[in-house]
Amino acid sequence: MSHQKGIHHITAVAGNPKENHRFYTEVLGLRLVKKTVNFDDPSVYHLYYGDESGNPGSILTFFPWEHLQDGEPDRGQVVAISFSVPTGSKAFWIDHLRDHGLDIVEPFSRFGKEVIGLQDPDGLHLELVFDPKANGFDGWSGGPIDQEYAIRGLHGATLGEENYAGAGRLLEEDLGFELTNQFENRYLYESNADLGASVEIIDGFDLNGRPGKGTVHHIAFRVEDEAEQQSLRKQLLNKGYYLTEVKDRDYFKSVYFHEPGGILFEIATDPPGFERDEALNELGSSLKLPDWLEHERSIIEEELPTLND
Ligand code: ZN
Repeated sequence: MSHQKGIHHITAVAGNPKENHRFYTEVLGLRLVKKTVNFDDPSVYHLYYGDESGNPGSILTFFPWEHLQDGEPDRGQVVAISFSVPTGSKAFWIDHLRDHGLDIVEPFSRFGKEVIGLQDPDGLHLELVFDPKANGFDGWSGGPIDQEYAIRGLHGATLGEENYAGAGRLLEEDLGFELTNQFENRYLYESNADLGASVEIIDGFDLNGRPGKGTVHHIAFRVEDEAEQQSLRKQLLNKGYYLTEVKDRDYFKSVYFHEPGGILFEIATDPPGFERDEALNELGSSLKLPDWLEHERSIIEEELPTLND
């Protein structure tokens, strides 16, 4: 089988890390698969949530920058993140989210799938998409949500663009997606992956927002290995994009660039993954630091708030 193309992870900005952790692990039932720090700003956490092993396509990560302003959806941003849940889980999720006091957008249908809208504690726009593909494999059995209903991983992301065409071309020509549907000013691009296979672009997105808490920082797309990353990097350089050098993120290798509408895109390798420095049953249980920050561990640990009471 050919390598799965699709979203590797999405990274957003949060406020209070404890609230963020509580919401994503207890309410949504994701697994904290890695607890580390922002490599460029080690005074804040970098929290990775995902499925049991943090497979590519399941990962949503946060930088909890408590001092930042509240953000608002803006042109040139990822304006919604969706999760994939099984089709039979709708009644469960409606009850569950209401039991946690959340306001939800009543189920509606989009591109043939039912969707529930909600917001996280910082106002980040989230969606649960009831996807038949999610019925084909299991959710995490070790979480607070019954495995039958559990979130399987990312379904996709919605990009807010002034003009859909630039990002659309990039998705089709370089990132392994195909335009499969369109309704009014919303364009659906899909890939062959089990998770993270859907990117929707809203054309003529007209909200004037700003970055900050509750907004997405960047979106990463998958490559199989470093060789594919190098060749894709070269391909994009030849098209006139400015790309960073390869950065070692410990759990994957990354390069970054801005798509034509201004959204920060990343190309991330599938390997080595989160079991690189923790056993599967221990993922997320202790603070992991890159080697070059180990000598500052005691200072870093002292400054970071605890996530659990
Ligand atoms: Zn990233």
